[in-house]
Amino acid sequence: MIRRLFLYLSRQQALRRWMEAWSLARKITRRFVAGETLEEALAVCEKLQREGIFSTLDHLGENVSTLEEASASCDAYVAALEQIAARHLSSTIAIKLTQFGLDLSEQACLENVRRLEAHAKTAGSRVEIDMESSAYTERTLALAIRAGQECGCVRLCVQAYLYRSAGDIERLNAAAVPVRLVKGAYREPPSIAFPRKQDVDKNYVTLMRKLLDEGVYPALATHDERIIQQAIEYVKARGIRPDSFEFQMLYGIRRDLQRQLIQQGYRLRLYVPYGTEWYPYFMRRLAERPANVLFVLRNLLR
Ligand SMILES: Cc1cc2nc3c(=O)[nH]c(=O)nc-3n(C[C@H](O)[C@H](O)[C@H](O)COP(=O)(O)OP(=O)(O)OC[C@H]3O[C@@H](n4cnc5c(N)ncnc54)[C@H](O)[C@@H]3O)c2cc1C
Repeated sequence: MIRRLFLYLSRQQALRRWMEAWSLARKITRRFVAGETLEEALAVCEKLQREGIFSTLDHLGENVSTLEEASASCDAYVAALEQIAARHLSSTIAIKLTQFGLDLSEQACLENVRRLEAHAKTAGSRVEIDMESSAYTERTLALAIRAGQECGCVRLCVQAYLYRSAGDIERLNAAAVPVRLVKGAYREPPSIAFPRKQDVDKNYVTLMRKLLDEGVYPALATHDERIIQQAIEYVKARGIRPDSFEFQMLYGIRRDLQRQLIQQGYRLRLYVPYGTEWYPYFMRRLAERPANVLFVLRNLLR
């Protein structure tokens, strides 16, 4: 119920404009969003690197309406990659294809991604492509495979809640494109996605094992302690090297678990979002966990 409400609110544009302009709201989001500027986000990445944690810079924004906006999104990421190189950061960038014009022109979107790949290669970095709602799954997959085969520096997110994901992983493995496995954050109908959480979790574990056995440097992106434990038991039992995959988590979430993984010698990358368009991202984090709503309310009352 709360999840549905927040996913609904995340799509309300008037509320979004109002919230993004409200300074108190901006302050509260700092728990999950590194800052509004690239400089603030880079400072977070540098701090994480000192703690032995890798990062992924995510310049927040979705669904642009002109190709000029798409190009401006691309410019922001080029600036991020230049700084990753200049500061010797073990950071990647995370992009959403709708931010790069997927709704407007697939060719222009591909050209934008190619531009980023060239900069990522120079910086020794990688372009991580997020997966958005199911309206984009096939197009995102096709573009990621094409771009990934061209440059070898792309990773694509796959959502365990979709029935189709086992087949998608087969296609990505065959193309040697690395995968970031997540449970899935959008609202999808039962005709295409598991409606029950326990089935999503079960499918996550099945796909996770497939990736650990057959994938190329997979990323297991979850805060689910039980699943992380199962991953650790699986890699130990199969003799899979800890440097042949990585765990990923979101900035500000389960910091206790993050520290434990690092102490145990596993690789961890945090997804570090920044920018002024934080509202949909923030609302999806609230939707995932009602306790976060209490956190927001407590801060508002202070
Ligand atoms: C690095 C990364 C990249 C992602 N990229 C995408 C993407 O491209 N597309 C997409 O659809 N989804 C993406 N997601 C989101 C993902 O789909 C899930 O919605 C999100 O990770 C919550 O699922 P979970 O695996 O942590 O498990 P859950 O079962 O939801 O949570 C397990 C436990 O984790 C903790 N937890 C989870 N979420 C929160 C939260 N918001 N606040 C506080 N505690 C929390 C709680 O302790 C909870 O009990 C990404 C997630 C990560 C970590």
